[in-house]
This record gives sequence, C-alpha cells and structure tokens, in this order.
Amino acid sequence: MSIKFKNVTKEYKTGTNSFYALKNVSFKANEGEIVAILGPSGSGKSTLLNILGEIDRATDGEIMFGDLNVSKLSDKELTKYRRNNVGFVFQFYNLIPNLTAFENIEVAAELTKSPLKIEEVLEAVGMLQNKNKFPQQLSGGEQQRISIARAIIKNPKLLLCDEPTGALDYNTSKEVLELLDKINKMYGTTIFIVTHNTSIASMCHRIIKLRSGQITDVKLNKERISPK
Ligand code: ADP
Ligand code: ADP
Repeated sequence: MSIKFKNVTKEYKTGTNSFYALKNVSFKANEGEIVAILGPSGSGKSTLLNILGEIDRATDGEIMFGDLNVSKLSDKELTKYRRNNVGFVFQFYNLIPNLTAFENIEVAAELTKSPLKIEEVLEAVGMLQNKNKFPQQLSGGEQQRISIARAIIKNPKLLLCDEPTGALDYNTSKEVLELLDKINKMYGTTIFIVTHNTSIASMCHRIIKLRSGQITDVKLNKERISPK
C-alpha cells in the first residue's frame, strides 16, 4: 500500500505553550517499499510512526493509504482499519512471557481473521524448531523473529517497526533486517523502520531524515532498487 503524508502536523499544548512534535511533514512512499525513519532522540520518529499506525492522530494535514484518506476516518473506523492492515514490531519484543512462541503468535491470530498459518510464519522467520520455547529461553534476535512472526500473521499491508534492532548487536541487527527484507519480498509488505542506526537505514529503499519535527532529507537508496 502506498503512503502519502501532506503537511502533517502534531501539536502538543501544555497550558498556553504549544510544541510541535511534527510540523508540515510531507512525503510519499511506494507500495512495497522499506522506508527508514532516521533522526536523533526527540526528533519526532515515534510520533510519526504512531500517526502512521493510527494509534495517534495528527493535529492537521492529510494522510493517504493508497486511495483511502485515513485522516477522514472516525476513531472506530481507524481502529478497524488498523486491526486488519497494520502490524507492529517493538524494540523490546513485547512477547507474553508465560506463553510459548507458538502461543504468542496464536493470540494475535485469534484477534484477526488470519489468512496465514502459524507454522507458515514460524517457517518464514526461521523459528519453527523453537515453536514450543518460552521467550526467556530464546535470544534477543530469536525473540524479535517471533515478534515479527506475530506482527505478520494477519498479513498486514503495512508493517511498522520501532527501533526493532535497538537492543541487538550489529550482526543480529543485520539478520533482522535481512528477515524484514525477505518478508517484504514474500508478501509485498510496505515496511517502516525507525532507527538511530545509519547502517541499518542504508539497507532500506528510502531514507527519511527527521530533525526537530521536520523532514530534513528524503533519499532513495541507489544501492537498493525500489519496487516502483
Ligand atoms: P523520537 O521518537 O524521535 O525520540 P518522539 O516522537 O518520541 O521523538 O517525540 C518528539 C517530541 O515530542 C519530543 O520532544 C517529545 O518530548 C515530544 N512529545 C512526544 N509525545 C508527547 C506528549 N504526549 N506530550 C508532549 N510532548 C510530547
Ligand atoms: P523513544 O525514545 O522510543 O522515542 P520517548 O521517550 O521519546 O521514546 O517516548 C516514549 C513515549 O512517551 C511516547 O509514546 C511519547 O509519545 C511519550 N512522550 C515522550 N515525550 C513526552 C512528553 N514530553 N510528555 C508526554 N509524553 C511524552
């Protein structure tokens, strides 16, 4: 699904003060792209991701998902849209500790009409042999693979990853990026990855740089051929 932001602004008001976490942010991303959002702490990366994921609303501006103007949807419609179309991956995996890898994915599968089989996604992330292990029996990289499997079980059009490699060493981070790349190719998922890490960003198709709530640079990666 293609994504378009037009003059998206997020304003926080505290008393008489107002603060812009995002100010007039505009960009496009093609369907099937992997987009990196790069920027220092406090630059608005999480805010941008939360707005993309419909867990936060912009104060102003227009957001298009393909031909759908999501800025016009009601809160109820947004929730429904998110449930069916958007997957999330977090820095600290957020797996349920007393459920096995398989059961963690099963919980997510039960919440949506899942088009994919749990075994199929476990296979896709290379974790079928670990399906009966509990999160604490798995390494950080393995837990992140399970959390990616959980996010893609509903075959979302959009996958949002907030610092997915923030707690991992360099080699494991690279493997996680390679896995996201494989999922992007297998399912055509549009993927956004928030990161501080320029070498992780350099593995993506498009790199959006944020600073103080504004885009300072959008770059297409010459090393990577964008799907469109
Ligand atoms: P990043 O993810 O790049 O670290 P954030 O999107 O989390 O940045 O935050 C951007 C700015 O918006 C920060 O200065 C932060 O303090 C501010 N901010 C985020 N959420 C709120 C909020 N709920 N109320 C007030 N300010 C906020
Ligand atoms: P990160 O480093 O992952 O961006 P942050 O510490 O910036 O995390 O933000 C974590 C959460 O706290 C976010 O959901 C953000 O909206 C909220 N937050 C950040 N800054 C503020 C703030 N000044 N006031 C209220 N909430 C905030």
